[in-house]
Amino acid sequence: MGRAFNFSAGPAIMPEAVLQQAAAEMLDWHGSGMSVMEMSHRGKEFISIYEQAEADLRELLAVPAHFKILFMQGGGLAENAIVPLNLSQGGAMDFVLTGSWSQKSLKEAGKYGPARVAASAQADGFTTLPAPATWQIGAHTRYVHICGNETIHGVEFHELPDLKALGCDAPLVVDFSSHVASRPVDWSRVGLAFGGAQKNLGPAGLTLVIVREDLIGHALPHCPSAFDYKLVADNQSMYNTPPTYSIYIAGLVFQWLKKNGGIAAMEQRNIAKAQLLYDFLDSSSLFENRVAKDCRSRMNVPFFLRDESRNEAFLAGAKAANLLQLKGHKTVGGMRASIYNAMPIEGVQALVAYMREFEKTLA
Ligand code: PMP
Repeated sequence: MGRAFNFSAGPAIMPEAVLQQAAAEMLDWHGSGMSVMEMSHRGKEFISIYEQAEADLRELLAVPAHFKILFMQGGGLAENAIVPLNLSQGGAMDFVLTGSWSQKSLKEAGKYGPARVAASAQADGFTTLPAPATWQIGAHTRYVHICGNETIHGVEFHELPDLKALGCDAPLVVDFSSHVASRPVDWSRVGLAFGGAQKNLGPAGLTLVIVREDLIGHALPHCPSAFDYKLVADNQSMYNTPPTYSIYIAGLVFQWLKKNGGIAAMEQRNIAKAQLLYDFLDSSSLFENRVAKDCRSRMNVPFFLRDESRNEAFLAGAKAANLLQLKGHKTVGGMRASIYNAMPIEGVQALVAYMREFEKTLA
C-alpha cells in the first residue's frame, strides 16, 4: 500500500514534498554534519532555520509589524490557560460558544477569572454561528474569545467579527488551530490568534501565537515564566528550548506554501475542495452534512450515513480504497473528512467517487 489520502483531523496529512525534503536532510542538514534534531537551538544553523521560518510565516499571513510571532509549546489546550494568564489581568473574559473547542476554552479560563458566555449555538447542536450583533459582551471584558474553526462540529467563521463595530474595545482572541494558513487573516480585527501546528502547519509539539504588542507584558504574577508572552517574545521564543524539529518542518511547510502560490492560492484550492464534497453530500440520498450552509467549515467536514448500521462497512471499504481516518469524533459520531491545505483535490475526488459507489451498492 502506497501513501494514502489521509483525512485525519490532526495530526494530519503533510505535503509529500516536505516529507521528502526532510528525509533527504535527515542525517546531514545543508552540509552541517548534523540532523536538525541534533543542533543547539542557540547555534547559527538553527537560528537561521528559525529566522527564515518566522519571516516566511510573517510574509505568508501578512502579519503586521506590531504583532509578535511566538513559537511555543503546549498546544491549543495550553493556550486556553496561557491566554487568560497573560491577558485577563484578573478581569472578566467573554466566550462565544460554537462547539467543543470554544467550550473547552471557556472552562479552562474559568480557573483564572470570571469567564462568561457572550453567545452560544449549543441549543441547535452547534450547527450554526450566533450572529455577532446578538452577542452579549460584558462592558469591562478583557477579551472576547472565539474558535475560528470548530474542528469537531465543522463550523467556521468566514468573516471575523468586528468588535469595534459592536461597541467593544477589547481585543478579539481567535483559536485558529484548525484553519490557520487556509485563508487570509484580517489582523485589524484580531488581538491574538493561537493554534497548534499539527493540522495545517507541521508536526505536533509546536504552538503558534501571534499577538499584538500592546497585549504583551501584563501576565499575572503566578503565570509560569515559560508561558509569559513577554519573556517568550523578548527571547525570540527561546526562553526555554523550543520544539526545534517541529519548527524546522513547519518552516519547510511555509516554503511549500510560498512555492504553491501562498495563502490566497490555498484559499482558492480549499474552496474548490470543500465545494466538491458539500455539493455531493447535499445531493446524496445516503450521506448528509447538518451544518447551516453559510457556517460550514472548509477544513473539517462532518457527515452522517442516514443508515448508521452501514458505518463500519463504509469505513472498511474506505480503508481498502486507501482513504484513511474518516471516522467522526466520538462526541458527534458519524464520519469526518478533514481536508487541510496538504490534501490535494485528487483526494477529495477519490473520496466522493468512493461515496458515490458505496451509495449505489445500497440502492
Ligand atoms: N483548538 C482546536 C480548534 C483544535 O482543533 C484542537 C485540537 N484538535 C485544540 C484546540 C487542542 O489542541 P492541542 O491538542 O494541540 O492542545
